Amino acid sequence: MAKHIFVIGGVLSSLGKGIASASIGFLLQKMGYKVAMQKLDPYLNVDPGTMSPFQHGEVFVTDDGSETDLDLGHYERFTGLSTNRNSNTTSGVIYENVIKNERKGEYLGKTVQVIPHVTNEIKHFISKLAEDNDIVITEIGGTVGDIESLPFLEAVRQFRLDVGYENSMFIFLSYVPYIHTAGEVKTKPTQHSAYKLREIGIQPDLILCRCEQELDEEIKQKIALFTNVNEHDVFSAIDVSCVYEIPKIYYQHGVQSRICKHLRIEEKEVDFIKWDKFLTNNKNPQDGTVNIALCGKYIDHKDAYKSVVEALSHSAAWNNVKLSIKWIDSEANYNEQDYKELLGNIDGILVPGGFGIRGISGKINIVKYARTNNIPFLGICLGMQVAVIEFAQNVCKIEDAYSSEFDENCKNPIIDLMSDQKYINGLGGSMRLGAYPCILKPDSLAAKIYQKESISERHRHRYEFNNKYRSVIEEFGMKISGLSPDNLLVEAVEIKDHPFFIGVQFHPEFKSNPETPHPLFRHFIKAAKK
Ligand code: GLN
Repeated sequence: MAKHIFVIGGVLSSLGKGIASASIGFLLQKMGYKVAMQKLDPYLNVDPGTMSPFQHGEVFVTDDGSETDLDLGHYERFTGLSTNRNSNTTSGVIYENVIKNERKGEYLGKTVQVIPHVTNEIKHFISKLAEDNDIVITEIGGTVGDIESLPFLEAVRQFRLDVGYENSMFIFLSYVPYIHTAGEVKTKPTQHSAYKLREIGIQPDLILCRCEQELDEEIKQKIALFTNVNEHDVFSAIDVSCVYEIPKIYYQHGVQSRICKHLRIEEKEVDFIKWDKFLTNNKNPQDGTVNIALCGKYIDHKDAYKSVVEALSHSAAWNNVKLSIKWIDSEANYNEQDYKELLGNIDGILVPGGFGIRGISGKINIVKYARTNNIPFLGICLGMQVAVIEFAQNVCKIEDAYSSEFDENCKNPIIDLMSDQKYINGLGGSMRLGAYPCILKPDSLAAKIYQKESISERHRHRYEFNNKYRSVIEEFGMKISGLSPDNLLVEAVEIKDHPFFIGVQFHPEFKSNPETPHPLFRHFIKAAKK
């Protein structure tokens, strides 16, 4: 029978429940347990795929093509596991299922209600991961006290009754602020959030207190007393500069021992060898700094590029260099001279994925700068499409080469809607999503980097390279280095006479982690370091 850990947040949002859950997952998985992770999101969207990055940061894509919350990225990066469609759900999906069942007549004439029908549907979702795993970690989105997360909290309250105390654990991530004017930390917000949780019928088993500095024993005892938790189960979760330090900090405090004790499982050794190597290089890189320009339109909402930034940091540590990112606003529309000034000390340029025409000319200009100044370039998804457009316009001299995403009537749509996207109605879950195989040309830089010719990467796009333009592009020196196995879709391009210029239609950033940085990022940083 699987053991269940529920991670619940108190006081305020943005405390890092995703990172806390991922860190716990890391420790248990490194002990050799089979761990699965999932997130329950209380909002009514069916998935975050249709949300603006302003709202919800990056949309993380799984191998099986689910568009999910960015916390799943943390789960994968910390545990090295692959998440799937059972790793994220929302109130939208839960209600959609309940209503479908009701229409089918499956509730046999009963009045359909939040309890038990909605809560049963939530419990059913949680149980899906229990089958093949030792431990299921379920993060509940939102904060205690939110109206919309109530059905989820009620469902996990019931879940404990179903599986028993020692098979389930409630971990409460709370906040203990330091009040500068009073010169002391305050436990009241945590006390009140824990009352609120108990009001719903959930008694936390362990509390992680987000705080600026380690809490002293007296404070922890006070929190324990007022929240009805054993004082050995109250931990400081201090602010850190690098989130990957957190599993180690939990470990040093003994969080894993208390979890194992509660769940009646053996506490085994945690192997930190590879992780420590990453942390050491990340903290004290020996080979200088690499300056990377990242050009997008959400530079004030960096969560929109979460996995890209993480992948860069994994590879910087791998190359033993410090990563410095210069954010370039694609909508600022800098000219060549501006770029010369802005990018004077830049070692590499990355254009990530994106949607819509805003900022496109800025992206085209920066790609041109990378290409003509021999600066290592990595273009991801839209970044690749823009690289192809730039090359077609400026090298092949097809001046009106463009993407039909930005101008439906453009005469030379070198990037065009994929044929199977032409008749799709509705935006939700309808892109080319998830992992697809790709065959790399044996003599390409990409094949050299991956050290294999057959790869699998995750996708999220509607548009593709227009095959009509393959020969002209290749004639002028852009190499098509990766294709779908049926040869129909261009998945990767590169420029031969350039130190490092690669564009990929997929999202390599989703498959990078500190222990195994993604090869494309590793080599991009390596080229930039040179
Ligand atoms: N907007 C482009 C498309 O849909 C690129 C998508 C992306 O960068 N994820 O094809």
